[in-house]
Amino acid sequence: MTRPGTRLNTALVHGRPVGDNTTGAVNPPIYNSSTYAFPSVASMPRYDYARSGNPTREFLETQIAGLEHGERGFAFASGLAAIHAVLSIFRPGDRIVVGDNIYGGTFSLLHEHFARWGVEVTPVDTQDPIALRAALAGLDAGEDTVARPAAAVYFETLTNPLLQVNDVAAIARAAHEFGALAIVDNTFVTPYLQQPLDLGADIVIHSATKYLAGHSDVIAGLVVTAAGTWRGQSLADSLYFAQNRLGGVLAPAECDAVRRGIQTLALRIERQQENALKIGQYLLGSPYVKTVHYPGLPGGHGEPNVARRGLRGFGGVLSFEVVERLDPADVLDHLELFRLAVSLGAVESLAELPAVMTHFELPREERLRVGITDELVRLSIGVEDVRDLIEDLEQAFQFAASAAALRQGEESFHAVH
Ligand SMILES: *Cc1c(COP(=O)(O)O)cnc(C)c1O
Repeated sequence: MTRPGTRLNTALVHGRPVGDNTTGAVNPPIYNSSTYAFPSVASMPRYDYARSGNPTREFLETQIAGLEHGERGFAFASGLAAIHAVLSIFRPGDRIVVGDNIYGGTFSLLHEHFARWGVEVTPVDTQDPIALRAALAGLDAGEDTVARPAAAVYFETLTNPLLQVNDVAAIARAAHEFGALAIVDNTFVTPYLQQPLDLGADIVIHSATKYLAGHSDVIAGLVVTAAGTWRGQSLADSLYFAQNRLGGVLAPAECDAVRRGIQTLALRIERQQENALKIGQYLLGSPYVKTVHYPGLPGGHGEPNVARRGLRGFGGVLSFEVVERLDPADVLDHLELFRLAVSLGAVESLAELPAVMTHFELPREERLRVGITDELVRLSIGVEDVRDLIEDLEQAFQFAASAAALRQGEESFHAVH
């Protein structure tokens, strides 16, 4: 319900028209009120208490619902609070098929929290249609038991940190054949690059901390539901209950920070992916680099030239492996412009070592199996001048190469003496 008839870039800036503002302010007000006066005892005011509803939050919720082409939006205090609320619509005995390469916090929430509440988790490679269908059907190889279809499939549009593209339309179609919901974490992609509900997904989730807010200054989560039902209740009502009863709502000032971030989403992502592509090309040609993962990169590793699968672009995150002789820590510790930090999607460029900084929860064997090696570096590209970013990487590579040469020299020195 953005301004009717406007295109995406316009909807990003305007959201829903501000209706109750008598001052002429061009931005929606931040309502810092936890409670609202009733006109009378018998009245049923639109707002009564801010956990249940707040106009600033509602502006953002309406805005994201419009951008994701969904029925209703919900704002939460973090991405994980949003995911918790979504998964709380299931009950003990339900089985959820989960992409085998999902955000670590979500992995832990499923395996260490929801598993205790009787929700069963079946990890699967969502890129493998046969494995996905078997997991959805609940047919374990070789078992004679009756099939027990999954209640939902949960996955991310682009996997982290290897940037594999999940085919939302195909996965949602398979889920629906078995009566399961398709739930998509669209954090890496945003509605600017893909609207998963249009491809058949039922629920979309964002860590708005990343691209939507875009400035590394707020923690927030968003959910948008399609106009469907789950066990006789509309998805919107189920999510509203979860938001209001679990209570992890986003505070008004944070709602406004996310709203403001969304206004420049198009500009930021355009620059970020333009920079990411140039950095990917530079890395591909670098003698210090073994592999590059960025789906927009012809000749890159991972999924080169893959069908776009509905994506209008590939975002600003990429990853690469340094050659064996370099220590990736030498590179990362000597970056001057890139900040050494987890998180992504902001205006400033960040670099990190997944094996140590973001994916350490995965047992090493499992981590290597999915392709997250010890020398894999993840970059989140910002909006800086790309020439400065490339020069920064180059000087860090050269430092790491000198350090490696020195180490090798010392080794041969000790071998001789
Ligand atoms: C960061 C992130 C989350 C968790 O969001 P928070 O806002 O940190 O709670 C979930 N999914 C993905 C893909 C993320 O990158």
